[in-house]
Amino acid sequence: MKEAYGRMSEKTDIKSLDYTQVQALIESLGEKPFRARQLYQWMHGKLAGSFDEMTDLPVRLRETLKQTCHYTSHTLVERLISGIDGTEKYLFGLQDGNVIESVLMRYHHGNSVCISSQVGCRMGCRFCASTLGGLTRGLSASEMLDQIYQIQKISGERVSNVVVMGTGEPLDNYENLLQFLRLLTDEHGLHISQRNVTVSTCGIVEAMRRLADEHLQITLALSLHASSQEKRKELMPIAYRYALGEVLDACRYYFAQTGRRITFEYSLVGGVNDTREDAHALANLIGDLNCHVNLIPVNPIRERSYVQSDRAVIEAFKNLLEKYRINVTIRREMGRDINGACGQLRKSYMDEKEKKG
Ligand code: SAH
Repeated sequence: MKEAYGRMSEKTDIKSLDYTQVQALIESLGEKPFRARQLYQWMHGKLAGSFDEMTDLPVRLRETLKQTCHYTSHTLVERLISGIDGTEKYLFGLQDGNVIESVLMRYHHGNSVCISSQVGCRMGCRFCASTLGGLTRGLSASEMLDQIYQIQKISGERVSNVVVMGTGEPLDNYENLLQFLRLLTDEHGLHISQRNVTVSTCGIVEAMRRLADEHLQITLALSLHASSQEKRKELMPIAYRYALGEVLDACRYYFAQTGRRITFEYSLVGGVNDTREDAHALANLIGDLNCHVNLIPVNPIRERSYVQSDRAVIEAFKNLLEKYRINVTIRREMGRDINGACGQLRKSYMDEKEKKG
């Protein structure tokens, strides 16, 4: 696999290769087969930061690898720790100067990392900070993986769950996402169970169906955010491309192919999508689906005038859905004191940088 986007000349992006591809690379260099296992173990088991750390590989081989391969290893730009709930936000620098953000959340059931899948985003959701500057590029598999590796190394804690819910639309970067999922869940690497991985999408129908056909055991989360096609268009431009019915059909297809219950994300925006009528309409839309609804009090961003719904309105919305026997939880807001919302930390960093020129 050559480096995407042609930025690092013709070097191989070695941390994006799966085990079979590493074996092929080692063979092409005329090395003994066991070197592939060692190399892979250094990259994805011991989380080495460079070829130099791979002390049991011959110096000659390390030199060849340095010359022919690019080794993804993010630099830490900033780490913020919430005083409220211990949530940690990380800003990482990429080889080409771009920055991305990732989040570590601590739950009773283990540590969860939220990663970015792209630098920026082109989906244009109205309430989201990640999309304000548009899309710069998709991340390679190794750039997605290394967010988790770095967090595990820096925090010294094991990560058990991964959610692809940071900046970017993962299904707009499909091939790299799939390779990332392969590497993340591979038994020779971190070996995170597919069931502990969630991919969130704004609803790119063809890609949802394609993902269903991969028959993975990951959870698919759909950002729904509205109870009708018309209202969805107001919040999410992607709704101009796909009718709500089509998107929900793709969710049904995902469940049929994988047996995995769909998660619907619904960000409650005060006075926009939080009425009793909305709750009834939503229940009618998804009532037949084996699903779980995640209500997210919208995280207001400076650039837009959206506000959170009152606590009582949120509770009432939840109760109404429960009357329809729909599984629903209100997402705890984590790391509010550290630019918790999607893309806010990166955005404020970029704004500062621009000011300084
Ligand atoms: N592009 C993907 C994944 C990234 S966004 C998607 O659309 O699902 C992850 C989730 O956070 C989505 O449900 C998104 O709509 C939601 N989100 C983004 N900004 C938000 C904000 N300011 N307040 C509440 N939810 C937000």
